[in-house]
Amino acid sequence: MRLVLLGPPGAGKGTQAQRLVTRHGIVQLSTGDMLRAAVAAGTPVGLKAKAVMDAGGLVSDEIVIGIIAERLDAPDAKNGFILDGFPRTVAQAEALDHLLADKGMKLDAVIELVVDQEKLVNRILNRAAEAHAKGEAVRKDDDPVVFKTRLEAYNRDTAVVAPYYKARGQLKQIDGMAPIDQVTAAIDGVLAEAA
Ligand code: AMP
Repeated sequence: MRLVLLGPPGAGKGTQAQRLVTRHGIVQLSTGDMLRAAVAAGTPVGLKAKAVMDAGGLVSDEIVIGIIAERLDAPDAKNGFILDGFPRTVAQAEALDHLLADKGMKLDAVIELVVDQEKLVNRILNRAAEAHAKGEAVRKDDDPVVFKTRLEAYNRDTAVVAPYYKARGQLKQIDGMAPIDQVTAAIDGVLAEAA
C-alpha cells in the first residue's frame, strides 16, 4: 500500500498516518519529521533547513526530494508507505512520479483531508496547549504567528498539488473536520476501494 496524505498543516495528517502505520504495517514517511531529526542532529541538511522551518517557509525542493529518494530505498519502505507532508509542490509531485516509475511502483491512493482553515488555527492553538499541559516541548512552528505563515505557504505552493492528482484521477477527498475516528473510517473506506 502506497499512499499520499494531503492537507494543510494541522489537518490531522500525522495523526491519521500513525493510525495507518498500526493498522496496515506500513511506514510513515514524514518529511517534517525527517527534517526535524536532521535539525536536531545538526547535519548539513538540518543546518540549511532550520531557519526556513522556524519561519514557517518551505525547504527547497532539492533537499526534500533528496531525502525522500534516499528514504524510499530503505528496506522498511518496500512493504509500502504513507507520505505525510510530501509532496508539497508540483515539482515534488513530479519528482515523486519519476522516482516511483524508476522503481516500477505506483501510488495506490492520494487522500486529501479537506478542512476549514479558520478552524485550523484554533486546532493548532489546542495542539500547542495540550503539548504544554503534558510537559512536552511545543514545536516552534506551532506558534500561532508562524502557523499562519505555514498556512500561507500551503495556499501559495501546496494547494495546487491536490488538483495535480485530481487531473490524473488519483485524488480522493475526505472531510478532515470530522471527528478523528470518522476520518480514519473514511480513509479505510477509500483504501478498501483501492485494494
Ligand atoms: P510538517 O511537520 O509536515 O508540518 O513540516 C514542518 C516544516 O518542515 C514545514 O513547515 C516546512 O518548513 C518543512 N517541510 C516539511 N516537508 C516539506 C516539504 N515536502 N517541502 C518543503 N518543506 C517541507
